[in-house]
Amino acid sequence: MSLPEFRVGLGHDRHRLVAGRPLVLGGVSIDYEFGLDGHSDADVLLHALTDAILGAAGLGDIGEWFPNTDPQWAGVDSKVFLKAAVKAVGERGWEVVNVDCTIHAERPKLSPHKRLIAASIAEQLGIAEDRVNVKAKTGEKVGPIGRLEAMDADAVVLLGRSTANV
Ligand code: MG
Repeated sequence: MSLPEFRVGLGHDRHRLVAGRPLVLGGVSIDYEFGLDGHSDADVLLHALTDAILGAAGLGDIGEWFPNTDPQWAGVDSKVFLKAAVKAVGERGWEVVNVDCTIHAERPKLSPHKRLIAASIAEQLGIAEDRVNVKAKTGEKVGPIGRLEAMDADAVVLLGRSTANV
């Protein structure tokens, strides 16, 4: 008899909001006057999600896998990190059951983009769109989010696998 086994993982990330950079959230390019600064494409949501997946499987964090001091990751599409994490957990028998995440951004208004971002993440993970939920919050005009200094993202992931129960 085999029983399913589950693991939950948590991810958080922050990137500075600057002029002269593209804004990419969840693999979706968003037209805005500012973008996120970082070594890669600085997709704050995919970084939080990648950390949540690695964390659920007990595989450390994104900084260990893809150091921001390594030139090979300069300007890279963060979908590369996400796919590598999914592959690593998949090799250990884990599949993503569902994802819930929150983007913290004062502007731009993200409600028109949430569905597209969820669809993008679902496609990257190879799961149905109804297993991915994307939320957006402002910073209420206070703190680094509210002052347009940064964007944050939080992600929670559930992984599942079947195990032989002997
Ligand atoms: Mg990051």
